Amino acid sequence: MSQETIIGHYINGQVQEAGTERYSDVFNPALGEVKARVALATTKTVGEAVAAAKAAFPVWSEQSALRRSRILFKFKELLDKHHKELAQIITTEHGKVLSDAMGEVTRGIEIVEFACGAPHLMKTAFTDNIGGGIDNYNMRQALGVCAGITPFNFPVMVPLWMIPMALATGNTFVLKPSERDPSASLLMADLLKQAGLPDGVFNVVQGDKEAVDALLQHPDVEAISFVGSTPIAEYIYQEGTRRGKRVQALGGAKNHMIVMPDADLDQAADALIGAGYGSAGERCMAISIAVAVGDVGDKLIEKLLPRIDNLRVRNGMEGDADMGPLVTAQHKAKVEGYITKGMEEGAKLIVDGRNFKVPGSEKGFFVGATLFDQVKPEMTIYKEEIFGPVLGIVRVPDFASAVELINAHEFGNGVSCFTTDGGVARAFARSIQVGMVGINVPIPVPMAWHSFGGWKRSLFGDHHAYGEEGIRFYTRYKSVMQRWPDSIAKGAEFSMPTAK
Ligand code: NAD
Repeated sequence: MSQETIIGHYINGQVQEAGTERYSDVFNPALGEVKARVALATTKTVGEAVAAAKAAFPVWSEQSALRRSRILFKFKELLDKHHKELAQIITTEHGKVLSDAMGEVTRGIEIVEFACGAPHLMKTAFTDNIGGGIDNYNMRQALGVCAGITPFNFPVMVPLWMIPMALATGNTFVLKPSERDPSASLLMADLLKQAGLPDGVFNVVQGDKEAVDALLQHPDVEAISFVGSTPIAEYIYQEGTRRGKRVQALGGAKNHMIVMPDADLDQAADALIGAGYGSAGERCMAISIAVAVGDVGDKLIEKLLPRIDNLRVRNGMEGDADMGPLVTAQHKAKVEGYITKGMEEGAKLIVDGRNFKVPGSEKGFFVGATLFDQVKPEMTIYKEEIFGPVLGIVRVPDFASAVELINAHEFGNGVSCFTTDGGVARAFARSIQVGMVGINVPIPVPMAWHSFGGWKRSLFGDHHAYGEEGIRFYTRYKSVMQRWPDSIAKGAEFSMPTAK
């Protein structure tokens, strides 16, 4: 792609190059160069996408669930075929290393596989003869036009948390991907079309706040799934629910990993390196705080330092890279600002990733792996999500203080505990105020048939993403009572009906 490449919308089965809209630059972060420009939808463009989705809804929602699933089966086959192409798009726009991008696509495909089971998953309960010849059963019905607004850090996987779940259950969909890495959304739209999806069922509007606000304000949008930072998640939740929409808004994180004195410290150090610096820390499930219990702190640092030294930080397209650049120059400056702030507030900087240069990619947005010790709960680098390769160590005297520390944090997305003590592990899983818990697993992202979501200010709304929670989010529950004329009692009844 050249600088002149324009990334447009996808409405009613057609790619639309924008006309009079605003544009935003899309970078290759490893090279620090603009690779394309993305159109930023106006309210009018969003209106066209919603109208297309609304027009497609009656026919799509009346298809049998099995027919819809067959299209998703085909979509899954096409995703397999284009797996590497999708991963390459991710790496060139996001910056994460290719092997990590391949894994992202796999995790997305798993949700498509799960959604193919919608005919079974949408089955509901039936009670024969509650009395007087009356049966009671339930239905799960599609909502209508649903919208998804997604973050830059998983341009394939997070849209796939939503798209297959919404479509399998009979909804039509408008996706508003991140304007920082928008290209994968258009390839997925094309693959859905090739799979046989009717025009209008899936649409993409590229854009920023203007497009998001247009979706929030549109009366025909019934439900919004949002994934992104906490301030925007809270805004989407408040504005959407105020307008009567169903909203699930997944926000930011600050994930801790407790290292107990009985843990295998080599395993714990490997886990911290992967979970702290993988994807350059740009994961909502990244570990950014190691909670060293008892005398673990010094021993852990000893294990971490050589591993940090050996990290291969380079262009993610290079086969052996462990860590790539950050997504934009602004984000790099923000992360470096946090490192400076951490020093000013008194944390001990052990490894400094600022001013990091990669030979051959000098203009790339790289920040090297950074390690702080003596991080305290009142420091900005402890309280706020940095979303970069910055790992902090907090030292606590015992397990109870570790749990108390984590439970007091405003975020509750992911957490982990490394220990060999079953009693500690069990107490941890039961008492920790966090939505996704790992025991000797650093990044406990639930599988497709479980559901993904945090607690506290990491999720606004009642439903987690995908899995059975996803089926519930994208359907409306209905109860039906039926009785046939031969069992209807004669005469009006004035008392509250009860089971006879
Ligand atoms: P972001 O909040 O900046 O953007 C998310 C989406 O909101 C994008 O589509 C963007 O265009 C839109 N947006 C941005 N500013 C807006 C505004 N003022 N009004 C309306 N819409 C706006 O997030 P990001 O930087 O793309 O992604 C990183 C964040 O996402 C991190 O905080 C990370 O923790 C979070 N995240 C959370 C999860 C989760 O499951 N909880 C998963 C992935 C990422």
